[in-house]
Amino acid sequence: MHYRKRSLWNGEKSGERGFCYYFSGMTDCLFCKIIAGRIPSKKVYEDDRTYVFEDINPQAPVHVLIIPKKHIVGLKEAESTDAELLGYCQLVAAKIAREKGIETGYRTVYNVGPGAGQSVFHIHLHLLGGRALGWPPG
Ligand code: AMP
Ligand code: ZN
Repeated sequence: MHYRKRSLWNGEKSGERGFCYYFSGMTDCLFCKIIAGRIPSKKVYEDDRTYVFEDINPQAPVHVLIIPKKHIVGLKEAESTDAELLGYCQLVAAKIAREKGIETGYRTVYNVGPGAGQSVFHIHLHLLGGRALGWPPG
């Protein structure tokens, strides 16, 4: 694994998860901080490999981000050893979509690179639904 559990430092908040994840070299990553509970988020789901939360600037009635707890910069930086984890993120998205009642039509999206609008460099799968989704996307 690319993260390990550690005890809290004095005065450090653990959020509701009871412990902090420490990512070597990734202390400045916004989404690593969200996973660790050091920046607040509206949690939708969590398991040992993924964390799911509501997008702060939703583009649809349902707009959540599925992120692996492992820090991966983006899809083009992912390695073959990440294949199972990235496939698992898609299945987590399908589970959330089922639970949110948006199975009429939803979209899972990776924005890959700044030219496609990637603004946070910890890979995140957007799940959008709850309204008609046009094609092609902008
Ligand atoms: P992207 O533009 O594909 O990199 O997506 C980044 C997403 O993260 C955007 O949809 C932002 O609205 C969302 N975002 C940025 N900061 C936060 C935050 N603190 N909590 C929740 N979502 C965020
Ligand atoms: Zn990160």
